[in-house]
Amino acid sequence: MSEITLGIIGGGQLGSMLAIAAKKLNVKTVIFCDDIDAPAQNFCNQFVTGSYDNNEKILEFINQVDLVTYEFENIPYETLNEINKFKPVLPKPSVNRLIQHRLAEKDFVNKLNIRTTRYVSIEKKSDIDALEDFLPGILKTTTLGYDGKGQYPIKSGNDLNSLNIDFSKGYILEKFVKLKKEISIIITRFSNNKYEIYEPIENTHEDQILKYSKIPAEINEKIFNQSKDWAMLIAEELKYVGTLCVEFFIDRNDNLYVNEIAPRVHNSGHLTINAFNVSQFENHVRAVCGLEQIPLKKLSNAKMMNLLGDQITHYRNMQKFNDNEFFFDYLKKDIKEKRKMGHITTLV
Ligand code: ADP
Ligand code: MG
Repeated sequence: MSEITLGIIGGGQLGSMLAIAAKKLNVKTVIFCDDIDAPAQNFCNQFVTGSYDNNEKILEFINQVDLVTYEFENIPYETLNEINKFKPVLPKPSVNRLIQHRLAEKDFVNKLNIRTTRYVSIEKKSDIDALEDFLPGILKTTTLGYDGKGQYPIKSGNDLNSLNIDFSKGYILEKFVKLKKEISIIITRFSNNKYEIYEPIENTHEDQILKYSKIPAEINEKIFNQSKDWAMLIAEELKYVGTLCVEFFIDRNDNLYVNEIAPRVHNSGHLTINAFNVSQFENHVRAVCGLEQIPLKKLSNAKMMNLLGDQITHYRNMQKFNDNEFFFDYLKKDIKEKRKMGHITTLV
């Protein structure tokens, strides 16, 4: 039996699912989160709340754990780096710093000869004037974006005048890809050339927020193999330890592009809980805690639907689900429009 206590920064649904997976492996969990109502406190052994730059609270947190991981990437690099001086942080803080910056992330991917959308750094409004080539495009903040937040579709230079964009922040402008489909690869890297990799997952977004995921993805063999190869190359190059997600675009000519990397477990991988012998969450805990690597076995095809905002209410009131349906309520205190409140996975 393991005697490990794992610290997790972030107490949302991903933190909950990591804590549930850890419990199964007899790994204790302490969650640190700046939200006093964080849902993951229902599933961990200890919960510490404080802001991510509160040294006293961080100390209280790290004194209780053997190592630290995180469920979301927007944690100040300084915080992770400071913690790493006392207890190991996995994935490494430097990986997080690279990926939380869209420009650095895309430069890194391109250096590996992996295709991304065309992009350019934007520091001031007039930078866009000479960039007709990148339009129509999407202007994205270089840091702190998620679920489409901090993103502005731009058809022409004129659009900028009507949008009130705060140029004190850095941006990138990305050429708009005519999407045929989006897929993701979830991979857990244990150590040099030791991986567990899930098959490509097909994702459907609505208003830039993930709505549906399913396996198998309806893609050709070339894309199936290329997406897995690129995810492995990225994980290896980062010397990554833990679960990582690579999001891809497929355009109408069946070209594959890396959209972005998430240095953590991912929403599109929720179906791995029910469709595989080992979930992305369990694999993450196994990898960061140095536990045994178990060969992945697929148990079933599956589809997952996110329940956003008040869509959760109907499911909360359901008396009974079919045997192939698995409903997860994230136990968030307030229902907010477009907020991820739960999901339902159906084995098919
Ligand atoms: P987030 O960090 O919010 O997930 P993404 O860059 O993944 O940001 O964008 C969210 C979604 O918006 C994507 O999954 C895709 O559906 C759409 N999108 C983003 N960038 C582009 C692009 N360059 N071309 C076409 N669609 C895009
Ligand atoms: Mg994304």
